[in-house]
Amino acid sequence: MRALVFQDVKQLGCESIADAAIVDPGDAVVQVRLAAVCGSDLHIYRGHEAGIDAGTAMGHEFVGEVVAVGKDVERIRVGDQVLAPFTTSCGDCFYCRGGLTARCERGQLFGWVEQGEGLHGGQAEAIRVPMADSTLERLPDGVPVETALLAGDVLSTGCFGAERAGAGPGATIAVIGCGPVGLMAVFSAVRLGAARVFAIDTVPERLEQARELGAEPVDFAAASPPEVLRQATHGRGADGVVEAVGTPQATRGAVDLVRPGGTIAAVGVHNEPQFALSPGEAYDKNLTYVAGRCSARHYMDRVIPWLRDGVDLGGIFSHRLSLEEGVHAYRIFDEKLEGCTKVLLKP
Ligand SMILES: [Zn+2]
Ligand SMILES: [Zn+2]
Repeated sequence: MRALVFQDVKQLGCESIADAAIVDPGDAVVQVRLAAVCGSDLHIYRGHEAGIDAGTAMGHEFVGEVVAVGKDVERIRVGDQVLAPFTTSCGDCFYCRGGLTARCERGQLFGWVEQGEGLHGGQAEAIRVPMADSTLERLPDGVPVETALLAGDVLSTGCFGAERAGAGPGATIAVIGCGPVGLMAVFSAVRLGAARVFAIDTVPERLEQARELGAEPVDFAAASPPEVLRQATHGRGADGVVEAVGTPQATRGAVDLVRPGGTIAAVGVHNEPQFALSPGEAYDKNLTYVAGRCSARHYMDRVIPWLRDGVDLGGIFSHRLSLEEGVHAYRIFDEKLEGCTKVLLKP
């Protein structure tokens, strides 16, 4: 089968690899209908996360049709149209039972094979999905397939960030970074009932998308976000900040925006060795700082009901390309060429 594989830093190839197949009795094989390229795929592409084997199929955002199941698979059937979170989960360990499926004792990340161990990704014609019964979910009726795909990662991650930042009735929430996750955090904060949601970025198209999703856009090249937030909150600052960038500068921005006693929810993936805020700053502002990988399998069940009333979030995809065009897709996404914000690949 064809797959977009990692060869080296900034070097991918569309190659033929071994067909996805049932290995364990709990596995399913999914024929991929749509696969998306995620900002976290760029961490691998750029070499910021090292250790992945050459020849690994990339990607962890996909939807498709089940074409084979192992003998222990009961809930998922051949022919089901399914979506997947970006990690597998057993549904039954201490962490899964507590909703922390991202830390499942047996969980694995799609699109990461290291020293021969791990899972290939979904930017391929087909993918093997272990623990299929507890990992996969059927595509919800009446939801556009591109929107359903987002529930497997960026929408779940956005909801996770908004919820952990305290988005709820009466709250004023700031979202730093209006990439796909930030936009989905805006959508989620509005859905969770936040009174006001401020979206901070500099790219006009992203700010416009945030506005369409219900946010008040703040172009930080033209205005001071802390000043805007203070004016909106009797001088206090945001009740909660979703930091959806993953840089020290974004952390600093969050510290400046949040009010005393507020919460910073970091959903951007950080690679720096130390916190960009000091223990003293956290103490002096009575801050709560929460971080971590979204338990997408758990949050999927949360966000899918939001999609049933005809919501179409497909507008966050700027490009729809074939798998064979995947190398080009990464290049324009990485270098932000051609207005690329998120790419959908159609194997
Ligand atoms: Zn992703
Ligand atoms: Zn588990």
